[in-house]
Amino acid sequence: MSDQNKQIELPDFITVRDLAETMGASSIDVIKKLMANGVMASINQQIDFDTAAIVAEELGFDAKSTADADAEPVSSGDLPEWRKIIDQVDESKLKRRPPVVTILGHVDHGKTSLLDRIRSTNVADGEAGGITQHIGAYQVTHDGRLITFLDTPGHAAFTAMRARGAQVTDLAILVVAADDGVMPQTKEAIAHAKAAQVPIVVALNKIDKANANPELVKTQLATAGLVPEEYEGDTMVIPISALKGDGIEDILEAILLVTDELKIDADPNGKAAGTIVEAERNKSRGVLATMLVQNGNLKQGDAIVAGNISGRVRAIFDFRGKKIKSAGPSTPVEIMGLSDVPSSGDMFEIVKNERTARKVAEERSIAAKASANAKKSGPTLDQIFSQFNAGKVQELNLIIKADVQGSLEPIISSLEKLGNDDIKVRIIHSGTGNIGESDILLASASDAIVIGFNAEPDTSAKNAAATEKVQIRFYNIIYRLIEDIELALNGMLEPEFIERATGVAEVRALFRISKVGNVAGCMITDGEIGRADHARISRGGEIIHEGKISSIKHLQEDVASIRKGFECGISMEKFNKFKEGDIISAYVVEEKNTVF
Ligand code: GDP
Repeated sequence: MSDQNKQIELPDFITVRDLAETMGASSIDVIKKLMANGVMASINQQIDFDTAAIVAEELGFDAKSTADADAEPVSSGDLPEWRKIIDQVDESKLKRRPPVVTILGHVDHGKTSLLDRIRSTNVADGEAGGITQHIGAYQVTHDGRLITFLDTPGHAAFTAMRARGAQVTDLAILVVAADDGVMPQTKEAIAHAKAAQVPIVVALNKIDKANANPELVKTQLATAGLVPEEYEGDTMVIPISALKGDGIEDILEAILLVTDELKIDADPNGKAAGTIVEAERNKSRGVLATMLVQNGNLKQGDAIVAGNISGRVRAIFDFRGKKIKSAGPSTPVEIMGLSDVPSSGDMFEIVKNERTARKVAEERSIAAKASANAKKSGPTLDQIFSQFNAGKVQELNLIIKADVQGSLEPIISSLEKLGNDDIKVRIIHSGTGNIGESDILLASASDAIVIGFNAEPDTSAKNAAATEKVQIRFYNIIYRLIEDIELALNGMLEPEFIERATGVAEVRALFRISKVGNVAGCMITDGEIGRADHARISRGGEIIHEGKISSIKHLQEDVASIRKGFECGISMEKFNKFKEGDIISAYVVEEKNTVF
């Protein structure tokens, strides 16, 4: 750096265009400097501060980070975890806080009935009965102690939040109907809670029913990994009837007992932080966000950042919709005052003032856009070993779905024998039936790979796998599956590639276009051909060329792909000797056994 250099301030991420503008330089010069440094960037591309600072220096500027310029112990870029905030708190300031409980279980086993029953009989402040709950959470008192319930039954919501990095639940109540027993969603819920390391208390519901069979259900629970206390395990199983109200006090008692064994602390006077449970825009009141305060004391007037949205807490309401001035740890509240709607699972925190809130939010939006470009993907089987070598994983997490129980058992017992002291297979969840969306969410939240043994993903699972970048591998022979996992654990699994046919076109005419060369006027006779596909050209049954498609035109316009029944012009890389009657068979190359 030299004394003559002009000073500029740059954020953590900046586009090439904005960097050029900040320096009063031309974008072309910036791109050239970047290229000279080995970075191929387009004008709208985001570059990080370090890269921008190098280019700036070469163009005669000293770059300073805006983050340094207004240093505050607020983490920008990465979302802060409220837990990290608590970790920074002096131990002596930590106080017990109410536990936060989520209710999970199979459909129709009584989750909603239990939530309703607890709310109507035990709601805090003795307003039993007539209260109308305002938001998706409430608090009750038992033995003079508060318990917070999140009113979002179902493990999909639970895991969707966790996939975003949020962990709000301290304890899960697993509702199992005594007349129906452990069902597929019960097993899923167990897997989800265990993956989140959340302790489980079982509410054995519907014991009023004539065909209730609690003993059978306890055996099923033991087999599913929740061994009841009376079988010398450590799972509390509480018989209840949500319908009649029996056992409700016992459930609350059990929650407090488990809570006492957990470290459920927060600094009630510290900086407020927590998680967005849900949020919406209301026509007359603006953005309303339901949040769980997890640390500190949230006050009216505080400047707030939630995800990449900023604002000021204009009003706070408790779960009954009553206006309050402040809220401490484990309190569910609704607030007004955010500038836009944050996402469920976003974390919020309080900052010095609104200006800082806006700045942190802005930087996070930029960082989020930059990381969306390089979207995190889940592990693939052949990457596991390199991650292990880099010290990142000690376990290969798997979710296994098989067509029948008879295949599942040998697969699990063989897989459990694999690995060594350093790296092991951990089966997060297994079950029979097709692969569902909740399997994918669980895999995403636990960095797991999904294995389908004669089991296919349904449409929503396929879509979720694509967005969450979760790898699914398919097998129909047990020893192949075991062999692949063993090879992956030893770092010897080579990715295998296969072709997938996409579409077929028939050449019907030839055109010559200057600059492009010969273009084949085609009719797509099958499937859909994409601009980035590979293709084979055959003439009279013989393949005369194989290579990449370079462009597809429809009515003079370049198009990304074209479907059966449409006419188009296709040109290929390094080939232009088309003849009428040639067949173009297009395909893509994909990693074998994998869908994303
Ligand atoms: P969810 O799908 O898990 O939320 O289940 P619901 O709470 O909606 O309950 C499903 C059905 O079971 C409803 O018809 C309830 O009335 C009934 N139910 C729930 N709890 C009990 C119970 O303790 N005893 C009996 N007999 N029926 C119950």
